[in-house]
Amino acid sequence: MAKIGINIATGSLQQNEMIVGIDLGTTNSLVAIIHPDTRQPVVLKEHDGVSLVPSIVHFGGQGQVTVGDEAKKFLVTEPQHTIFSVKRLMGKSYADIREHSGYFSYKVIDDNTESLVKIQVGEVFYSPVELSSLILKELKTRAEHILKTPVTKAVITVPAYFNDAQRQATRDAGKLAGLDVLRIVNEPTAASLAYGLGLSREEVKTIAVYDLGGGTFDISVLRISGGIFEVLSTNGDTYLGGDDIDRTIVQHWAAEAGITEDELRVHKNLSQELRLLAEAAKIALSSSESYSGVVAEQAFSLTRQQLEHLIKPLVDRTITCCINALKDAGLDTRDIDEVVMVGGSTRVPMVKNSVSTFFGKKVHDTLNPDEVVALGAAVQADVLAGNNKDLLLLDITPLSLGIETMGGLMDVLIPRNSKIPSKAGRQYTTQKDGQGSMRISVFQGERDLVKDNRKLAEFNLTGIPGMPAGLPKVEVSFLVNADGILTVKAKELRSGVEQYIEVKPQYGLTDAEVEKMLMESITHAREDIQTRALVEAQTEALQIIDTTRQFIQRNTGFLTATELADTLHAIDELTRLREQGTKDEIQAGVE
Ligand code: AMP
Repeated sequence: MAKIGINIATGSLQQNEMIVGIDLGTTNSLVAIIHPDTRQPVVLKEHDGVSLVPSIVHFGGQGQVTVGDEAKKFLVTEPQHTIFSVKRLMGKSYADIREHSGYFSYKVIDDNTESLVKIQVGEVFYSPVELSSLILKELKTRAEHILKTPVTKAVITVPAYFNDAQRQATRDAGKLAGLDVLRIVNEPTAASLAYGLGLSREEVKTIAVYDLGGGTFDISVLRISGGIFEVLSTNGDTYLGGDDIDRTIVQHWAAEAGITEDELRVHKNLSQELRLLAEAAKIALSSSESYSGVVAEQAFSLTRQQLEHLIKPLVDRTITCCINALKDAGLDTRDIDEVVMVGGSTRVPMVKNSVSTFFGKKVHDTLNPDEVVALGAAVQADVLAGNNKDLLLLDITPLSLGIETMGGLMDVLIPRNSKIPSKAGRQYTTQKDGQGSMRISVFQGERDLVKDNRKLAEFNLTGIPGMPAGLPKVEVSFLVNADGILTVKAKELRSGVEQYIEVKPQYGLTDAEVEKMLMESITHAREDIQTRALVEAQTEALQIIDTTRQFIQRNTGFLTATELADTLHAIDELTRLREQGTKDEIQAGVE
């Protein structure tokens, strides 16, 4: 099958271009690419093997900005100048975050309005977009340093539940960092791609992605079919993660050692050291049975069994979210084909086992759970770069796609510039009593009348059982899959009769032709609107004439001679107007 190797949006051939995948995380961010030799996704690492960049920005006294581990050092000493978790503020107003304002140790401006939040550092105000762009700029610089080539194009991941404002904010942050953001991808989709799920077009699967990171928990249920990922439901807790495990351990140790909460609050250093030891214990217990360490000349120890007892309530909360996500998707655990584990906290054996037991199957956990989202973003980036010839995702539909409706009008199902893969459907009905078939003509273009657009395909839906006009429900659905192939399906819902056809919409159209069609639609816009209105009036008139004629045939006996004469006269008059009248005249006739 011929595939299209051009980006319709830019008209450029996209080949062998280095596009990076970026996981812009709440706690850590990282960059991945498809290795040009092995063709496998890999995260970019510095010489020292470090790949994770803490998503933290520090503003120094002289206006110097540092990002990552360097900035992290200032978290305790200069909390007002050290910004973490900025992702939580993307696209948010103060009203959105008010109940969690205590979480941020820096100054989030409270102007008590619905406008987007700002962060005050010294005398300067920053938007979350600006702060995220500083992180992205750092990632870009590091990637360029490692790859020794300019990096200007990226795919960035966001949580599946991000709304349009949050997605747009992420896109803007990329732009501000000097990146052309080719696509915003859902994190669970990326994680699935990293495991190779959804890479084959024949695959139809339902996937649960369980993501337990440092500070957030997300569960997403996805369905892939025909190379399209659809989010069926999401659930989670934006304030639940590995940090809570650490806190639980600290509380346990403090209680054992007789340290009060007040003491912990006052002695910042002690509590910070205990927190670090707790995290070290947690990480060690993922592979050993017991751990001990020393803080302030005091020994603290923990066994895996104790840890599991401590964190059971936290893990149970995540399972409750899974139950809710399944309920929202209208599914049962049996319907889930694959379970993908994401986030550093899924390394805790008890977490893994609980999830596996809940879903009743083995989970995907062979990839590094901190890297899996970035790896998947790289897979997506590679597809966009045109390197993966088996799966070429086009950005957008260059022209609208639709079908012909009554009077030769174009009814658009997928508007131009829709992101693809894309899906749309609409219901139609018959015009005549007992109509047994319906012709579906598929067109591409921007004009109101199909005769001015380009016909792509035509087929007949036959075998519609005899019903009065208007009763059959014919659902026409359009599906443009990952490589720009359009499938049109028509199904009569009452009888289940169905038919489909595959169309290659872009095939054979050059960029110049696309442009010409667009120009024509602009030039003829006014004329098209008038024509559409006229055709709609003519169609309505025809329907009234037909219905009235049928009525008279069936009910002549009940009508007086005058009624009959008046009605027949009205029919004749409307028939004449329909052929010769203006839109307004026809409408008056219909009245
Ligand atoms: P993420 O936000 O996905 O980077 O996850 C970070 C969280 O994973 C932090 O709370 C870490 O303490 C936790 N984490 C990292 N490695 C492990 C491990 N081996 N066992 C348990 N938790 C871990």
